[in-house]
Amino acid sequence: MKILVVGGAGYIGSHMVKRFQDTDHEVEILDNLSTGFELNAQNYKLHICDLSNKDLVYQILKENKYEVVMHFASYINVGESYSQPEKYYKNNVTNTLNLLDCMIDLKILNFIFSSTAAVYGEPQNIPITEAQKISPVNPYGNTKAIVEKILKDYDEAYGLKYIALRYFNACGAHIDGTIGERHNPETHLIPLILQAASGRKKNFTIHGDDYDTKDGTCIRDYIHVMDLAEAHLLSLEDLIKTQNSEIYNIGNNKGFSVKEIIKIAETVTNTKIPYEIAGRRKGDPAQLIADNKIITEKLNWSANYSDLNTIIKTAWKWEKHLSKSN
Ligand code: UDP
Repeated sequence: MKILVVGGAGYIGSHMVKRFQDTDHEVEILDNLSTGFELNAQNYKLHICDLSNKDLVYQILKENKYEVVMHFASYINVGESYSQPEKYYKNNVTNTLNLLDCMIDLKILNFIFSSTAAVYGEPQNIPITEAQKISPVNPYGNTKAIVEKILKDYDEAYGLKYIALRYFNACGAHIDGTIGERHNPETHLIPLILQAASGRKKNFTIHGDDYDTKDGTCIRDYIHVMDLAEAHLLSLEDLIKTQNSEIYNIGNNKGFSVKEIIKIAETVTNTKIPYEIAGRRKGDPAQLIADNKIITEKLNWSANYSDLNTIIKTAWKWEKHLSKSN
């Protein structure tokens, strides 16, 4: 199949693109390089384009006759989504609509969408099944929930077939050490802990130790980015075969607290990680753990890299690469 990976120069998108290397699919990237890196796209045809430029998006889709579009290009920083909601609604919703409208016009009707566990807000039950109520508590989560609703309506009205993957906490780096997570500014837990371990950052801040959890710090479900990429590939192939739209949780059914992650990182890096405790971060639920039964049973997907040791080892290799090149 000929596939366009929108946001393919970014963290998850670049692991997706790399996953296609051992397949028969033909892949191109569309990216505005606002947060992604040209280096990640160096072996592929790259269309540098912002999704707000609908005419250009239309032209690229028309000329290249893609059969599937995968959409990874969104802003993901919850804190920033509170201070700059306009940026989030414009990019994550309006620009996604531009893309979808071009696809509908050109009859490209297969779509893979990066959604998030943030659509659940404060979960009613743990682990979280896909059937739980959608009730985001921050603007970032709102943008993804809105797009999920749009997809459902576009399916009914225009026959757009889609898979929305609700990611829990994406982390880790490619095992070959060539690509990994790099955000600027970095706000994610594991890269920040490892920056404190490598000395690139003076210390690490725990955002809140007064949550109703075993040690007071937040619990998350950490899923390796290569397992995420595999879930996308299986979803895409199933979508093409069955033409059934679906929503899947992508997590590992296991929760780890911030303090537990620090401990594992100390063992893997053989370093004492300096940290301080600060207040809670706005919009952080105490606990998010996936129930991944549906994708596991339907697509025979399993998380093969998501034990915390592998996650931290691969992320540590990547951090050492980054700290050397900085
Ligand atoms: N976290 C933290 N300090 C940091 C960054 C994150 O204590 O500097 C905590 C955060 O409160 C959350 C967890 O680590 O409970 C994971 O946060 P991250 O930003 O990596 O992902 P999110 O869960 O927000 O998608």
